[in-house]
Amino acid sequence: DSSLSLMLQAFPFGNRRHLLLVQNVTDLQKADAMRRDFVANVSHEMRTPITVLMGFLETVQSLELEKGQRDQYFEMMMSQAQRMKSLVEDLLTLANLEANSLPAATNKVNIETSMALLKNDAEALSHGHHSFTFEVLTKEDVLGEEREILSAFSNLVSNAIRYTPDAGQIHVRWGINADGQGEFSVSDTGPGIASEHLSRLTERFYRVDRSRSRDTGGTGLGLAIVKHIASRHQAQLAIESTPGKGSTFKLCFPKERLTP
Ligand code: ADP
Repeated sequence: DSSLSLMLQAFPFGNRRHLLLVQNVTDLQKADAMRRDFVANVSHEMRTPITVLMGFLETVQSLELEKGQRDQYFEMMMSQAQRMKSLVEDLLTLANLEANSLPAATNKVNIETSMALLKNDAEALSHGHHSFTFEVLTKEDVLGEEREILSAFSNLVSNAIRYTPDAGQIHVRWGINADGQGEFSVSDTGPGIASEHLSRLTERFYRVDRSRSRDTGGTGLGLAIVKHIASRHQAQLAIESTPGKGSTFKLCFPKERLTP
């Protein structure tokens, strides 16, 4: 790290204690920069819908509008308010996950039931624009926190729906992989993601295509939430993608997180 080596050149103590101290300072500086970035991002994400909402309110207030036109404005205002609500909800979810450093509980989460719920929600969200398969290939269930598991699964399915153009296919599957882990996977025939982005997707507010992602109604926090939930369950999030072909997001649970 360049700032660390600069400081060591200036203060060549050669002493382990000092070295640790300096490193801690740079860690603190990094944490502080991340916090500042985060606040700036949140402010920006909130300000946009508020500005749009206020613009519509002013228009509705100042113009004599016909009923049809007024309804259209109200609908647009509702969607901006919805966007802020989703953002605040996701921020709260993330804050709760971050505040909780304990591993997730080991309640039995029935995958068959979870898949049925996912399927229902997916079909409602897709409005018949995609074709789906939902497969449960093993009787083994996850040991974890039901609400979190469902939230992680549903974030991955809703991303597949939001990024895959009409007539695309989405395959959702639960099974045991070659390493004996419980594997939940979502494959889509969407745009795919270039490899240089893959490692950054779980950063808060990181988006491959800023404006497009916002148009799809995402908060930019979905995969950050998934990653936290995975880590509370000692699970791994793996992403495979081929630009132009599609993406597969997998959550792999270790044997200890599966029902015997
Ligand atoms: P967002 O609310 O922007 O979707 P996420 O954290 O869920 O936030 O995802 C981060 C980014 O990862 C998205 O903005 C998008 O660029 C990319 N992404 C996620 N899922 C997919 C997918 N199934 N296909 C293509 N790109 C995806």
